[in-house]
Amino acid sequence: MIAKKMQKYVEGSSVTRAMFEEGKRLAGIYGAENVYDFSLGNPSVEPPKAVKESMIDVLEHVHPNKVHGYMNNAGYEEVREAIAQSLNRKFDTHFDQKNIIMTVGAAGGLNVALKTIIDPGDEVIAFAPYFGEYNNYVANFDGVMVAISPSIPDFQPNLEELKTKITAKTKAVIVNTPNNPTGVIYSEETIQKLADILREKEKEFGTAIYLIADEPYRELAYDGADVPYLTKYYEDTIVGYSYSKSLSLPGERIGYLVIPNEVDDFENVVNAATIATRILGFVNAPSLQQLAVAKCLDQTTDIAIYDENRKLLYNKLKELGFTCAKPEGAFYMWVKSLEEDDSAFVAKAKEFNLLLVPGSAFMCPGYVRIAYCVDKSMIEHSFAAFEKLAESYAE
Ligand code: PLP
Repeated sequence: MIAKKMQKYVEGSSVTRAMFEEGKRLAGIYGAENVYDFSLGNPSVEPPKAVKESMIDVLEHVHPNKVHGYMNNAGYEEVREAIAQSLNRKFDTHFDQKNIIMTVGAAGGLNVALKTIIDPGDEVIAFAPYFGEYNNYVANFDGVMVAISPSIPDFQPNLEELKTKITAKTKAVIVNTPNNPTGVIYSEETIQKLADILREKEKEFGTAIYLIADEPYRELAYDGADVPYLTKYYEDTIVGYSYSKSLSLPGERIGYLVIPNEVDDFENVVNAATIATRILGFVNAPSLQQLAVAKCLDQTTDIAIYDENRKLLYNKLKELGFTCAKPEGAFYMWVKSLEEDDSAFVAKAKEFNLLLVPGSAFMCPGYVRIAYCVDKSMIEHSFAAFEKLAESYAE
């Protein structure tokens, strides 16, 4: 008999699995080239050449027992120092290796951060729409997820509602910018206001409220958009970074946490996060990947390809009369459903072989997410299907 707590996850994940199976079923009937699967956030652009070269270089030149061995649970000191110095160059910060903990992607990093700070019953706030896995991560530590309703139409965080939802039990606020699922980047003005509110509330309740910046899409920002580095605006910020999207390495499971000196209870937080990495069963982030990414700190995947997809799809959807949030980053488009029930709209889209994700999966019904990390030709071929979908609501 499985644990009661697991039963709802098993039910929940069968929805995702059903969507995946449905994609395969449709491909079997109509041919893969006639099915437009926009459901997955899996990078379509290849990793930069430097990634493979770095892995080979590490394998050829570093002693195998080092490449494949255990190290400090927080990661190799020289890798953490290289990352700290790279961040300092980019953001004019003052980190060193003790501020960096290597993680098993952003998902691993978020779980480490939450295990470090959450006691049962502590509240964690996120701004809808948000990555649905946050609910599961918070539940892992018996925290209570508090969703803030969306701010329509710009999908910047709803700060007025935030003020009313922070309590003495609020331990963390998670922000994700550039955002999955909206593609929106939170402006500097928003971040400054958010920081002011958190500082005020810390004073009011005499508590520490950690701002967790979930940043797997940091590098995917278009038109030269600025993505503010949150540690510079708010002292109690923990950053979770990942190479899953920036270097197209989601299967390799590599990223890091940044815990600045200014964070409340810094020494204990760093120690606890290091121990959390071990006792959650990660032990440490993958060793070869740590050494390889340290050689690719100034590299990113070719985001011009995503940018091209973004423009192509956005212009077409606008032309067809869809309402989309302004896509500034990541590789998602956030589109208003043409009927109130987003799941019914997703089912309708499937009749035209278009696979989309309902906004309800992101705590924001009435919208759908389109992942445009796909081949450009698939986007071009999907236009007729989007047109038919729009027409089916025009009658
Ligand atoms: N956070 C957000 C907002 C994401 O979209 C994802 C993955 O899609 C993750 C975290 C997890 O990323 P990783 O593969 O680095 O664990």
